[in-house]
Amino acid sequence: VNPVFADGRTSAFEAMSRLAIELGAINLGQGFPEALEPPELIEVAAAALHSGPHQYPPMLGLPTLRQAVAEANLRFQGIHTDWATEVLVTSGATEALASSFLGLLETGDEVIVFQPAYDSYGSMIRRAGGVPVPVRLDPPDWTLPRERIIAAITPRTRAVVINTPMNPCGKIFDDAELAFLAGLLERHDLVAICDEVYEHLTFDGRRHRSLMTLPEARGRCLRIGSAGKSFSVTGWKVGYLTAAPALLGPVARAHHYLTFTVPPALQVAVAAGLRLGDAYFDGLRTTLQERRERLASGLRAAGFTVLDCPATYFLCVDISAQAATEDDVAFCDQLLRESGVAAIPVSTFYAERDMHRLIRFCFAKRAETLNEAASRLRAWG
Ligand code: PMP
Ligand code: GLN
Repeated sequence: VNPVFADGRTSAFEAMSRLAIELGAINLGQGFPEALEPPELIEVAAAALHSGPHQYPPMLGLPTLRQAVAEANLRFQGIHTDWATEVLVTSGATEALASSFLGLLETGDEVIVFQPAYDSYGSMIRRAGGVPVPVRLDPPDWTLPRERIIAAITPRTRAVVINTPMNPCGKIFDDAELAFLAGLLERHDLVAICDEVYEHLTFDGRRHRSLMTLPEARGRCLRIGSAGKSFSVTGWKVGYLTAAPALLGPVARAHHYLTFTVPPALQVAVAAGLRLGDAYFDGLRTTLQERRERLASGLRAAGFTVLDCPATYFLCVDISAQAATEDDVAFCDQLLRESGVAAIPVSTFYAERDMHRLIRFCFAKRAETLNEAASRLRAWG
């Protein structure tokens, strides 16, 4: 059974990280950055931890962070937001997703999920009583398969999950694809759960556009961001969700009973993060793009076929030439044990076990780490 849709199983991310620690390997599997957190944010968090507040912040989040989210929506996406009624602070994007499914789905509601899909979608939709309906995108272009999407819609379809930029393939949904999806929402009366955690991690001059920027989709979108990704602090677990009051209400009620609040010192620091100047966000992109080049050339030198990566901090490579077996999980296991470098099998993002040609590496690491990984892979290959 594929772990993506098998509730209660250890995820590939967790399993590979555990094995990497056990074997002392370089972990380019689970996506987390190394030494990229902005020092000024750490200072703000430390000061806020000294000064307080230490008690339960408001259920929706501290006003300063909700205001910062509204400002960022306007600054980066041109989206006008009422911070008091349209923003919710969550325990990471993961909780924003969970609260959205728990708050919005009725038993039997169908949710279209594009594959490759981040592993929490399917499990959480099921736990919320919904039915995930996978629609697959194919490499190397990952074009939105309009016919397949239309065919997947039924009278029970309630929502669609849109992850752009997309993990693990780095796809950025273009204007035509967004317009198609906006039309679909209107025509079939659907809501869009927009997982935009990689919104700032785009390369080669490309930019992310939120589906929420389309006027006809504004009232149907739940736009989700993550401090973990935007500020390289995945362990902080601070996320934020923007939606029209009618959608935010039920999600906030789920959040109320799920986690209720988020540590206030971290909220203060993330508010400061969202207000950092353009130099920070441009610098993050430049640094990650340099790291992407570094790892891509290392992987090519080791004989891998590297797919395009317009966004996120993941590179997918085709292992057809290297893999003796048609099994990306076995390949990653062998690679980890023999070369000392951990990667993630991309089949973990698919419901069926038939996608087995690709594996994913995270490049949000120090240059030295990537150099060492590349040299291990070259020696192995
Ligand atoms: N969505 C996607 C697509 C992700 O890759 C991740 C990464 N971990 C998350 C959501 C979860 O974000 P957070 O750590 O803020 O819960
Ligand atoms: N989003 C991270 C990734 O894609 C994984 C986070 C997790 O392990 N839950 O690597």
